[in-house]
Amino acid sequence: MYKYDLIVIGGGHAGIEAVAAASRMKAKALLLTHNIDTIGQMSCNPSIGGIGKTHLVKEVDAFGGIMAQATDLASIQVRTLNASKGGAVQATRAQCDRQLYRQAIIQKLFELEFLTIFQQPVDEIICEKDSAIGVKTTNNIVFYAKKIILTAGTFLSGKIHIGHKQYEAGRAGDSNAKHLSLFLRELKLPQNRLKTGTPPRLDHRSLNFESMDIQLSDYPRPTMSYWNDNSLHPRQIPCYVTSTNENTHNIIESNLKSSAMYSGSISSVGPRYCPSIEDKIVRFAHRKSHNIFVEPEGLNSYEVYPNGLSSSLPFEVQLDFVRSIKGFENANIIRPAYAIEYDYFDPRELKKTLETKSISGLYFAGQINGTTGYEEAAAQGLLAGINAVLSIREEEPLILLRSQSYIGTMIDDLTLNGVIEPYRMFTSRSEYRLLLRQDNADMRLTHIARKYSLINDEKWRKFSTKKEKIEKMTNFFHKRFIYPDTKEYSYIKEKGINLSREYSLYDLIKRPEFSFSMIKDVISNTKKTKNENISKINDGIDGDSIDDNIVKYIETEIKYAGYIKRQEEEAQNLIHLENIKIPENIDYTKVKGLSNEVSGLLIKNKPDTLGSASRLFGITPAALSILRIYLKTNFR
Ligand code: FAD
Repeated sequence: MYKYDLIVIGGGHAGIEAVAAASRMKAKALLLTHNIDTIGQMSCNPSIGGIGKTHLVKEVDAFGGIMAQATDLASIQVRTLNASKGGAVQATRAQCDRQLYRQAIIQKLFELEFLTIFQQPVDEIICEKDSAIGVKTTNNIVFYAKKIILTAGTFLSGKIHIGHKQYEAGRAGDSNAKHLSLFLRELKLPQNRLKTGTPPRLDHRSLNFESMDIQLSDYPRPTMSYWNDNSLHPRQIPCYVTSTNENTHNIIESNLKSSAMYSGSISSVGPRYCPSIEDKIVRFAHRKSHNIFVEPEGLNSYEVYPNGLSSSLPFEVQLDFVRSIKGFENANIIRPAYAIEYDYFDPRELKKTLETKSISGLYFAGQINGTTGYEEAAAQGLLAGINAVLSIREEEPLILLRSQSYIGTMIDDLTLNGVIEPYRMFTSRSEYRLLLRQDNADMRLTHIARKYSLINDEKWRKFSTKKEKIEKMTNFFHKRFIYPDTKEYSYIKEKGINLSREYSLYDLIKRPEFSFSMIKDVISNTKKTKNENISKINDGIDGDSIDDNIVKYIETEIKYAGYIKRQEEEAQNLIHLENIKIPENIDYTKVKGLSNEVSGLLIKNKPDTLGSASRLFGITPAALSILRIYLKTNFR
């Protein structure tokens, strides 16, 4: 008999972080997946990050996860999105070499001491008295474990659509998980269907890049992981930009009836924020053109990903509209675009640990919970893995708060309000955007990760050194003054800043017009000196010791200090509500003053705290106040 602490089904982005976290916590884990070669496969675009998504990757990284590590080993073009906006909404985006990414992930998994990997589709989950205790594979091999995490992605009864044609698949080139899907239907967990889509892949040799705009990596090039520097990046290559035109739109419009989505073949809902080209042309009919980002799939790959051309039109129409686009006139399609429908489970049936409410020991993570995206999946996998191990050890679960993390925000959104379309992370989903930036996930979370042994000594040392540097630099900004009538001042004045008296750098940084490059210039001028007083102030800081990331981090903390403080206060209020627990056995019909509608909502969604209840769609402040009083009088 094969026995493990934990079994994870699925070697996608959720499964990877789940087994990696469990293994870092020294739990004996088994990863069961269809095909070892496709572990870490990016089903769609080979890119990691984006607004909101990067924040999740950085949080996973702050917990010692592997997505950002693999990204840095595979990044072939890296940029900071929203670079001209505030720190809260900036995001690193890495175009990856698809193969390098997969290789990096597989290597990192095989390096994990407590992990076993086995290639077999799982067909059944073995349950005993409403508890999951094992799994059975296609070949009837049975594995037992204390906890099971299911991360089956788009594979459960996955069905691909291209025009009027349909066939069963987990994604192009992979069989679906039909048996497991049928088995899960018997369990009567609430489920439904969603859909997503992908563009055609084009042959690099058939494109005319000279007629497109070029997009290079940023300089200096950011990394995805806090623990890496960009010397890990492979060779950089450019991406390109072209656009659709009236002719493209006409071709698509006149063929809408043959699109799987518009002909009625697909009735399930797709990601609103990642629409197909058919969708864009119908929904934004007034727009004459849409940008298409032309992204290479790797350093040694002939495939190009035309980002923005997701479609479920027949192949002939795909070829027609692709060839109407500048630079694509002679394009050859290597793989056709398609849409895929799959089963997902209502995440309101999950606890915040991602364990199902009805089957103890069974956890769900990733696309199966109605989300879309590698980053969203990875973040859920991490939390499911950690919580499964904590539960085995009979320790308190790790529930991250909305004010602490995007991971907590996502899990709160999913488990409380469910999904009506594939859920994608955006910074706008957080009410604490200034607290939750991509530059501070390590400062927010790494100390928690260390508590659970998810961060090794080397990373902890790096993190502690970074914290010391931040402290020292902040101190320096407080102590270092700029005086009127000095050479330094004339430099600042040239840039349009007038000083009537001396100012500390700290106070100057508060001014919006005192930019990052000005701070850097002033520090660069702070050379080593023989003057003891100045030397004390400099505390070893001079032009050579500037770490851009640290200076940028402190700049944001200083510039937005007022707003950050306000959000911290709001977060404290939330913690107060989160601490008021709602007992599982509460009978809402006995709470006088609650409308039938509100008590119905509470009965259905079973919020575990007053904080959670407050965020349910449809709960009024009056209802919340009634509930608070009821809890106080009856349960204290
Ligand atoms: P997956 O990455 O799908 O991994 C699932 C894993 O489980 C696979 O390894 C599979 O082999 C394994 N598995 C499944 N069933 C079994 C079983 N019974 N036994 C053993 N192993 C099993 N996201 C975006 O953000 N933007 C997009 O535009 C986008 N487009 C997409 C287009 C397509 C066509 C597809 C398929 C996906 C797209 N996605 C997109 C979604 C993205 O790929 C997923 O969100 C992400 O991969 C989910 O990660 P996951 O770990 O949940 O599942």
